[in-house]
Amino acid sequence: MNLEKLIARYKDYRLDILAFNFASYLINWDSDTEAKAGSFDDRSVLESRLTKLELKITRSKGYINTVTELYNNLELLDEDLKIEIKKVYKDLVKSLKVPKEELIAYTKVLSKASQIWSEAKLNNDYASFAPTLKQIVDFNIRYSKYLETDKLKGYDVLLNEFEEGMTKEKYDEFFSLLKQEIVPLVKKINALKIKKPEWANQEFDINKQKEFCDYLMDVMCFDKNYGLMKESEHPFTSGFGTHDVRVTNHYYSNLLISSIFSAIHELGHATYERGNAEKLNFTFLQGGTTMAMHESQSRFYENIVARTKEFWARHYPKLQSLFFDQLKDVTLDDFYHYINFVECSLIRTEADELTYSLHIMVRYEMEKMMIEGHLDVNDYPKMWNKLYKEYLGLDIPNDTLGILQDVHWAGGDFGYFPTYALGSAYGAQLYHQMKNEMDVKEVFNEPNLKKVNAWLKEKVHQYGGLKTPEEILIKATGEKFNPKYYVEYLKNKFSLIYNL
Ligand code: ZN
Repeated sequence: MNLEKLIARYKDYRLDILAFNFASYLINWDSDTEAKAGSFDDRSVLESRLTKLELKITRSKGYINTVTELYNNLELLDEDLKIEIKKVYKDLVKSLKVPKEELIAYTKVLSKASQIWSEAKLNNDYASFAPTLKQIVDFNIRYSKYLETDKLKGYDVLLNEFEEGMTKEKYDEFFSLLKQEIVPLVKKINALKIKKPEWANQEFDINKQKEFCDYLMDVMCFDKNYGLMKESEHPFTSGFGTHDVRVTNHYYSNLLISSIFSAIHELGHATYERGNAEKLNFTFLQGGTTMAMHESQSRFYENIVARTKEFWARHYPKLQSLFFDQLKDVTLDDFYHYINFVECSLIRTEADELTYSLHIMVRYEMEKMMIEGHLDVNDYPKMWNKLYKEYLGLDIPNDTLGILQDVHWAGGDFGYFPTYALGSAYGAQLYHQMKNEMDVKEVFNEPNLKKVNAWLKEKVHQYGGLKTPEEILIKATGEKFNPKYYVEYLKNKFSLIYNL
């Protein structure tokens, strides 16, 4: 077959597969935002049928031969298609190693899992989630066996799925640097015994919180013609190309800043996806390059931009006017210290910027044991509690505030958590470069984040899946990933705030 015809055939298959992906994008969105508990049994039957239909295409001789033939003629393809085919071929070879029946059965388990998890969390009933969790962990253990290579085995296989090139060895090194540098700093700050301000323990009307989050969408220049913000148990971002990017948020009447920083975080993910080059729509390169790079962007907005005094010098008056009764005596300086308050606390998503990576370390250590099969599912909570004591010095009062707090394992995402910490470190390296190129204090203080968006779009967002994190970092900062920027950033910022 001539090359032109072959490419046309590939693009036809690609559109079929993207249509299935689009369907599951919408179904997942609905499952996590609108669908009622009673609907999940039926939808899991239909979802596994969709997976079966999609596998009919992706496991067909025609599709496999088309991709393989293009892969064998890589040098004849244009630059973008070459990158896409390399990726698709690699994924294809991988997926063929996993039996079709197992994948279908696993989809069925996953489609009910988040509902079971959310009820278990609500009722503080780990035992009701344990059998499902065991099925998910067992699948992931088998999955890592199917995909293992001479170099990658066990948990390394899963880590590599989320961040190519990352292994236990590399993460161990990264985390031990953090442990060595950050744990003593946290201890020093804790020893100051500074109390959380009283004003934070008030009620903050949820409708007003929503109004402020809507205002933040404008601050971040998020075009509401292409996306929206809804509610879910756990905030997340879900996108399909540059023209449909959605985020969710969760509101607590007694926690003012939770919804604010979740909104900024998720809108950061959304800005990344919206900033992809338009040419990547309808390809498998849309979205972003890796999870860690995605997290680097959300956390860049959440922490590096939005936990500065310059940002709040601009936006605090608006917040103060919305919550006048509660905030009338709270100065900008008070508020700035509050949003950077360091505290060993129970919930990862509410953790401050400094202790955050300690929460990730707990999950990383857990996953190593879960996937390498050294731990019985009934012993997970005990181990969780033990690690929290060790890293954060905390006693866990119940599983809702402990092991049941995150949705990730119910979604089958093992190897994902460590990318949060890695992403923060990518972000700090990008920030170091940004400071060389512009007056960040001035830029963060502007009425909106247009200039931040433009800089990140040029350095990161436009590329979608066209470049690896390493290529992006080298091009943007002139060097490979270097964790020293993250450690330096944290040490400088928090030593200043706490006068250490
Ligand atoms: Zn995120």
